[in-house]
Amino acid sequence: MFSKKEKIPYGHQTIDEADIQAVLSVLQSDYLTTGPSVEAFEKKVAQYTGAGYATAVSNGTAALHIACLAAGIREGDEVITSPLTFAASANCILYCGARPVFADIDPDTYNISPEQIEQKITSRTKALIPVHFAGQPCDMDAIAQIAQKYDLTVIEDGAHALGASWHGKKTGAFSAMTSFSFHPVKPITTGEGGMVVTDDVQLHKKLCLLRSHGITRDEAQMQETESSCKDRGEGWYYQQVALGFNYRMTDFQAALGISQMDKLDLFLKKRRRIAQRYDEAFKDRPEIGIPYVPKGVQSGWHLYVIRIRNGRRREVFRRLREAGIGVNVHYIPVYRHPYYQQHGYDTTHCPQAEKLYEEMISLPIFPGLGREQQDYVMEEVLRVCGG
Ligand SMILES: *Cc1c(COP(=O)(O)O)cnc(C)c1O
Repeated sequence: MFSKKEKIPYGHQTIDEADIQAVLSVLQSDYLTTGPSVEAFEKKVAQYTGAGYATAVSNGTAALHIACLAAGIREGDEVITSPLTFAASANCILYCGARPVFADIDPDTYNISPEQIEQKITSRTKALIPVHFAGQPCDMDAIAQIAQKYDLTVIEDGAHALGASWHGKKTGAFSAMTSFSFHPVKPITTGEGGMVVTDDVQLHKKLCLLRSHGITRDEAQMQETESSCKDRGEGWYYQQVALGFNYRMTDFQAALGISQMDKLDLFLKKRRRIAQRYDEAFKDRPEIGIPYVPKGVQSGWHLYVIRIRNGRRREVFRRLREAGIGVNVHYIPVYRHPYYQQHGYDTTHCPQAEKLYEEMISLPIFPGLGREQQDYVMEEVLRVCGG
């Protein structure tokens, strides 16, 4: 029985006995780090999303970083992304020495606006990183057209959107690369974890190198140099052919990921059901804006964001927190952070993101959110917004 004294978080992992057993069995096996479970997890996510290849890494930020490097992003380049996202979507561009450029959001879907993307393109633009905000896929037709017209690589930040679909296609099946995160609040979890999916075998090979120091034992990837000729083919021999990182995922995390994948569709169904109940509760209240999902789009409902249209967002947020409801704001537009302000970004060029930021509140949504907890959230939102 749910007690009103318990705080309700905005997001929470769902772990069952099968998950625990999966991790325990790997702990008792020969492999703790990258072994058979990592490979099986990659295969499972690739199959699920419809992508040809997957590379598991230590977190979603690492996934974005190596995706940017594999796309060849480097100093002097510009990459366009959404301001309404977690800082990692833009930081990965800075890691490569390139400059993040923020294109404003669409005021209805809260996703990056294709028209705004096109306005921000310059001769330096190299890639686009659309973010499927709250789990709702971006307009991938429009984005793909722009990318083709200006010869840009598209890396989707799918951290919110594993299992979400756009006109019958799952995220991960649209662009050159898509990154996912398995942080506990995301659609499935491995504790920390991430993945990049792609259909391009060359990109996949680069991603695998970058994940593990740039080191290869594959003869086909080795280079002929004076220092290597007499050692090639010896049992100890490997080469570092690129500058990579240690971004590997452990095998026990991957085992958890495999077990979580079995429940992803159920998790998504539970999130969708909660979103439908919230929609129903708030749709006739003019002071509350509910999410808009276009036809043909199936959101992953990572977040459920309402807009408080009467200027009372700060008060509503405070009172909901006082009522034990773990509301949040996703997100502070990235360019508002001091680091970005100190690097020449101002707060005037994304007016839609600014407006939304002043009005938005994320309500609790996660598979384990009980019916009584949902009722309590709806009652409190209606009560607090009413006066
Ligand atoms: C969570 C998140 C990331 C980063 O993932 P981590 O696994 O936490 O590194 C990147 N982009 C978005 C939009 C996210 O929500």
